[in-house]
Amino acid sequence: MNEADFNVEEMMVATMDAVKDTDPEIYELIKQEERRQRDKIRLIASENYVSAAVLQATGSVLTNKYSEGYPGRRYYEGQQVIDQVEALAVERAMELFGAEHVNVQPYSGSPANLAVYLAFLSPGDVILGMALPHGGHLTHGAPVSISGKYFRAQSYTLNRETGLIDYQQILEKARQYRPKIIIAGHSAYPRIIDFEQFRRIADEVGALFMVDMAHFAGLVAGGAHPSPLPWADVVTTTTHKSLRGPRGAIIMCRREYAAAIDKAVFPGLQGGPHNNTTAAMAVAFKEAATPEFADYARQIVNNSRALAEVLAKRDFQLITGGSDNHLLLIDLTNKEITGKTAAKALDRAGIVVNYNAVPFDTRKPGNPSGIRVGTAALTSRGFKEREMFQVGEWINAVVAEPENERLIEEIAADVASFCRDFPPPGIDC
Ligand SMILES: *Cc1c(COP(=O)(O)O)cnc(C)c1O
Repeated sequence: MNEADFNVEEMMVATMDAVKDTDPEIYELIKQEERRQRDKIRLIASENYVSAAVLQATGSVLTNKYSEGYPGRRYYEGQQVIDQVEALAVERAMELFGAEHVNVQPYSGSPANLAVYLAFLSPGDVILGMALPHGGHLTHGAPVSISGKYFRAQSYTLNRETGLIDYQQILEKARQYRPKIIIAGHSAYPRIIDFEQFRRIADEVGALFMVDMAHFAGLVAGGAHPSPLPWADVVTTTTHKSLRGPRGAIIMCRREYAAAIDKAVFPGLQGGPHNNTTAAMAVAFKEAATPEFADYARQIVNNSRALAEVLAKRDFQLITGGSDNHLLLIDLTNKEITGKTAAKALDRAGIVVNYNAVPFDTRKPGNPSGIRVGTAALTSRGFKEREMFQVGEWINAVVAEPENERLIEEIAADVASFCRDFPPPGIDC
């Protein structure tokens, strides 16, 4: 090939040829993971399939640029392009969520939450969030997390009978502990959150109200879950879960907190933003603003309800009795199998879930009583209610006979051939 034939555009299409040449070992592993994602039923509630466009932006030359600071206020030169990329991402996020201010630089959900604490708290200040074993996130004050070590973290639990958020308990704890920040948001709660009630509680005790919508941001973007933006002072979210963008996070806040948040992210917590990720976020926000994405969000919830229906029929105990969002939390105690044993057997059958504590779990976190499943990824590959019924029957069959390896092998083969009719976005192998 001579120089004149050299087509830059072709080169930039994200083929893996260069990886294959340079590093066959990693190439082979990427291909294996691609096949795993293609051939398995992925029910991990935090995962998804990004579009080819998001994938390509993530793998672009924007990864080569350093740009500490913010558009128009950088510490390095050469920001003619990057400033526009970040400004676009910010503008689209503001539009998508109706936010007054957005910071798109957090490397991921955990640092985004830390940045909020850095902006408003001093070490030893009190925060109040959902307890980890009840569905809260590590960064909401779990004892093993920096959020539990540097701050005096108090936590609220779910109602023992209903599995629902107990707003009266939150109010009482808020009165007792006078937190500076009250956090709503979760990684394993299958219902909609009443943000207005949280707002009232925060106002009563003079706390800041923060929502971490990492899990359900895609539903909010698509109009399938109420938005916390009208109620919260600060909203954080990852961009890679139901929102279907690259791995990263954003912080949204009221105008009055904009300077404090920006200063906390940079220079408070981070150095240079990952510009390739910022670009991929911009692409994802554009995708999330379409009518197709609203359909997608609605279908996620419909799929979750369909899965709940079939599992309930098979006598699975669903925490709260069902789902209003993208996830189900299932207590397997009555099935006489632990979460871990079930998750391992399901994985061998090509159905990927995670074991999960259920509220007031009497078992240890390393082998708890439940599993968590989510429908965001399957919905991205076109699964609808009918397919969810089939998935539910497979789950039931595996959980009933987790040691029947012949059955499990059969199901794994059926799963792989079933999946072939639903090619996931971003994967063409
Ligand atoms: C996933 C998640 C996070 C953390 O995201 P990472 O990107 O894994 O750091 C934070 N909060 C909640 C509620 C989450 O579910």
